[in-house]
Amino acid sequence: MAEQDLIDPVARHPKPPFKKQSQPWPGLAGKMEPRPDHGETSYEGSGRLAGRKALITGGDSGMGRAAAIAYAREGADVAINYLPAEEPDAQEVIALIKKEGRTGLPIPGDLKDEAFCKKLVEQAVQGLGGLDIIVNNAARQQTRASILDVSSEDFDATMKTNIYAPFWIIKAALPHLKPGSCIVGTTSEQAYDPSPDLYDYAQTKAATMNYVKSLAKQLASKGIRVNGVAPGPIWTPLQVSGGATMEKLEKFGGMTPLGRPGQPAELASIYVQLAAADASYATGQVYGAAGGSGQP
Ligand code: NAD
Ligand code: MG
Repeated sequence: MAEQDLIDPVARHPKPPFKKQSQPWPGLAGKMEPRPDHGETSYEGSGRLAGRKALITGGDSGMGRAAAIAYAREGADVAINYLPAEEPDAQEVIALIKKEGRTGLPIPGDLKDEAFCKKLVEQAVQGLGGLDIIVNNAARQQTRASILDVSSEDFDATMKTNIYAPFWIIKAALPHLKPGSCIVGTTSEQAYDPSPDLYDYAQTKAATMNYVKSLAKQLASKGIRVNGVAPGPIWTPLQVSGGATMEKLEKFGGMTPLGRPGQPAELASIYVQLAAADASYATGQVYGAAGGSGQP
């Protein structure tokens, strides 16, 4: 067995100050400087999800992309959902999944639409020949200094994307999920320690943590596990396309004890762990990765 090098977590990835940058929402990982690391060249699988069939929302970039790459390298077939504007990021992910000899199924569309959420699940089931892992990871985050700046349209779009879509997707998927299947939700340190400028977003992350715990109890007897991942500040398109102020972005992650933001790749193994069969006693749990702050 090859020995693993000792890696210093402080020096492992870029730290602030970061270059000023902004992209129109929803943003592309391919246009960020530095480019986020989703494990493209580093994640090594060992068959932990061999034969599994996963649907990952927001699978084009960020945590969803890191999970998609890791799942494929662990032997799973993967369908990813994303917005049509994110096609360039999505195509990179599909190519990486196919390179592993797995099925990579791109299903673009807007999760704010209930009919689309149902269609998404149907297409994933058909295209993968079943479904046993659902990762509800897509989210909308837009910084607003004051509650007075949050329009009803803003509030509605955040709730639809972050709370309604998982509700619609889980309902559509449930009839297909056999015992041993699992659901993973991406929550946040914002669920426990909300920022003043993320009034609408932060409460959706508290709701995500809560539905994970409620559904875990409801679905335990059916053999379906439900867990959450709670990231701290992670270098993703969400942050450079309206999710953070320029001031916060330049110093992004610098306030954590590790002194830098996390990279999506650093959370990939958590998504794998929560989906793997050997985690069979973990349900209703929220696993964090926040550089030393904001733990669940
Ligand atoms: P990201 O921008 O890479 O991923 C978010 C994805 O959501 C997008 O790629 C997009 O495909 C999808 N999305 C948004 N609105 C959509 C819609 N209406 N229809 C379909 N897809 C839509 O950013 P990320 O940071 O990797 O976000 C992934 C998850 O991580 C989110 O749930 C986010 O709340 C959570 N999170 C992020 C951070 C962070 O610092 N980046 C911290 C805590 C939690
Ligand atoms: Mg994206």
